[in-house]
Amino acid sequence: MTSTYQLPDLPYDYSALKPAVSAQLLELHHAKHHAAYVKGANEALDQLASAREADEYSEIGRLAKLLAFNVSGHVLHSLFWTCMSPNGGEPPTGGLQQAIESDFGSFDRLKKQMNASIAQLQGSGWAALAWEPVARRLIIEQVYDHQSNVGQGTDLVLVIDGWEHAYYLDYLNDKAAWTEAFWSVADWKSAATRFESLAK
Ligand code: MN
Repeated sequence: MTSTYQLPDLPYDYSALKPAVSAQLLELHHAKHHAAYVKGANEALDQLASAREADEYSEIGRLAKLLAFNVSGHVLHSLFWTCMSPNGGEPPTGGLQQAIESDFGSFDRLKKQMNASIAQLQGSGWAALAWEPVARRLIIEQVYDHQSNVGQGTDLVLVIDGWEHAYYLDYLNDKAAWTEAFWSVADWKSAATRFESLAK
């Protein structure tokens, strides 16, 4: 059993994001859901290694999807924890603020587009603010599951989890209340650090 992928510790306590995210929800989300993607990603690598060893490739489509789904789930959740902070909620400043105004018109329009991306998900997915390196600009992606409906080569700057497990315990079916709560703890300082390294 490989342990290539490992569950990261949260950069804050489970109760640190209250009332936006309850301690029970945050613990379930991190210790159960995120942990399951880490386990699944390692298992996918193991099963691919076994397939090569056995010279048996009939399940390669299923295993490729298993790997993409679980690795992407791990990557997104690892980033998601750093997109929130007990000290968050302050709007972006500096170069990131300028890029948002240039690429979306205003911070308010970015938030509305991300809110709509979450609200209009059919099933499970994410809204991602991403750096698109060909046009050298920010775009918003509506991610299906963890790994679909994204352009190749983009880099994540800030992500919002729109899966039911991300909010149902605290907000029931009120997904809009969850996105509003997310903005109240959104950590634009960590997003700005990623943006600066991508856009330089
Ligand atoms: Mn999640």
